[in-house]
Amino acid sequence: MLEIEDLHAGYGGPTVLKGLSIRVEAGEFVSIVGPNGAGKTTLFKTISGILSPTAGRIRFDGRDLLAVRPSERPHLGIAHVPEGRQVFPSLSVMDNLEMGASTAAGRRDWVRNRRRILDLFPILGERSGQPAGTLSGGQQQMVAIARGLASSPRLLMLDEPSMGLAPAISEQIFERLAEIHRDGIAILLVEQRVAEALASADRGYVLEGGRIALEGDYEVLSGDDRVRQAYLGL
Ligand code: ATP
Repeated sequence: MLEIEDLHAGYGGPTVLKGLSIRVEAGEFVSIVGPNGAGKTTLFKTISGILSPTAGRIRFDGRDLLAVRPSERPHLGIAHVPEGRQVFPSLSVMDNLEMGASTAAGRRDWVRNRRRILDLFPILGERSGQPAGTLSGGQQQMVAIARGLASSPRLLMLDEPSMGLAPAISEQIFERLAEIHRDGIAILLVEQRVAEALASADRGYVLEGGRIALEGDYEVLSGDDRVRQAYLGL
């Protein structure tokens, strides 16, 4: 579904992504882990179009994604849940979700998606009229994920959804991601909580210095000595 080949990108200074290649199949759950500054957020920015790569190819459903305007990309079925959540703080929880439903598929499926979202995150139903900025960090993360789901995506990209959350809350978030995956939505997750991210995924990549250093399923990655020492603390 998503194929990225030999991607190079940066911010005008030293190149951040230096020939990165990854793929995500339809309905697959893929995690990308790596140290701070490895380029994980930069990768997501190039997929959603906030940043233009200097070289390489991104294809979505066989189509050249780099030829599609950034504002059009959500309409293809790609939802980006950004780092730091970025909910609209003064809008109500429900208005935040409706903002996500601005794609044609999101409008068409709104009633069904809203029901599923409130089933996944019942607290958002209880808080639906409250300004999103007054919610806890974990609840705001739920709003950010739910806003992505409201667009009826086929690929949900999440940038460090567990950031700043207590372990019990991030565990809940990982459980919900597993349910979303079971609904058939492909997930591309970038995470610092390496053990959870790799255990949840069908496949994982280790991103280091702007390139993929290692790829495999949980068994392969958790069996790698360097991954065990550097990321799993084993
Ligand atoms: P983190 O977990 O710290 O967010 P990351 O793997 O997501 O790490 P990126 O945010 O992609 O890493 O950053 C990769 C490199 O690009 C870092 O060296 C960072 O300083 C640099 N960088 C990120 N954003 C910008 C920007 N807007 N302008 C210039 N340099 C940037």
